[in-house]
Amino acid sequence: MACRLVKTDHIPERARFPAVDAHNHLWSDWDRLGEIARAMDEAGVACCSDLTANLDLRMAGGGYSFRAGRIETFFERAAAAHPGRFYCFTTATFSRPFSEPLFTDARAFAEETVELLRKHVRLGARGLKILKELGLRYRDAGGNIVFADDPRLAPVWEEAGRLGVPVLIHQSDPAAFFEPVTPENEHFDTLRKYPSWSFAGPEFPRKEALLEHRDRLVRNHPRTVFMLPHVANQPEDLGYVSRLLDSCPNAFIDFSARTDELGRQPYSARDFFLRHSGRILFGIDMPVSAELYRYHFRFLETRDEFFIPPDYDGTFGRHRWKVHGLGLPDAVLKRVYHENAMLIIPGLRDEMVGRI
Ligand SMILES: [Zn+2]
Repeated sequence: MACRLVKTDHIPERARFPAVDAHNHLWSDWDRLGEIARAMDEAGVACCSDLTANLDLRMAGGGYSFRAGRIETFFERAAAAHPGRFYCFTTATFSRPFSEPLFTDARAFAEETVELLRKHVRLGARGLKILKELGLRYRDAGGNIVFADDPRLAPVWEEAGRLGVPVLIHQSDPAAFFEPVTPENEHFDTLRKYPSWSFAGPEFPRKEALLEHRDRLVRNHPRTVFMLPHVANQPEDLGYVSRLLDSCPNAFIDFSARTDELGRQPYSARDFFLRHSGRILFGIDMPVSAELYRYHFRFLETRDEFFIPPDYDGTFGRHRWKVHGLGLPDAVLKRVYHENAMLIIPGLRDEMVGRI
């Protein structure tokens, strides 16, 4: 369909203020690191996270699997080679293949996790990343799904709080990922391309249940900072996220891979950003390129209308609607681009000295 709308595009070359990409993954793509750093330079991105630095991910058969990898490689190849440009989180023991039980002895698992988290933080990891597989696929030895607020895991979250590192926990996904994959599904084109992203089957918990477990986890550990990615995975209902942030001062969000959801409700999204400007972090969760960063700057900074958002994999062309920019004021942009990240990511404040 040809769009006959006459409009002017305003695509920023660089972020208005130095940006910290607080939600991304390098996936051991060490050979591309020079190119990634150049794209960051071009776009004005000071620093980029690798949330899964100890995870070895394999794509196969339209899905993925993973196993434990070496976090040391991140420090050798990324942190040492590009000082101040990359930092990492660890998934600690939550790097086990989800085809196997997460644990047989829960107490030993929690102890082992705490030990490994301490070790990785000593090496330089800045936080703990929990993938969506917790609550969705991981089971205990009895075959029961292990939910995020499972009391057997509580020592892990308490330890993160003691160490002063945030827990970035992905739970649930877009509402449409839990609905039948039919043309009526609002993410039909995406789910057809990536069938493994659909959790419509009866073997998966419902979205609402995942969010309930997650919210209880956040409330149960008020001394631990939780980063809830993808607008707390409920961008379709900003009122819900707003109430969650109001009631949980230890909760922060990022809006990575959800500008499509926000950009179809630009007035509500803008109000949301203004109200919660101290709790939102920048991050894209897509392969780094200057083009993708610039898309995000355009979304945050301009009042451009009706433009194409990228799909979750960072490619353009599968959108089922277009988005509108939020035109956020400078004070809000500063917080979102780097100030909030500097508040909760250990060490970042020192590293940003002289760069902001
Ligand atoms: Zn991610």
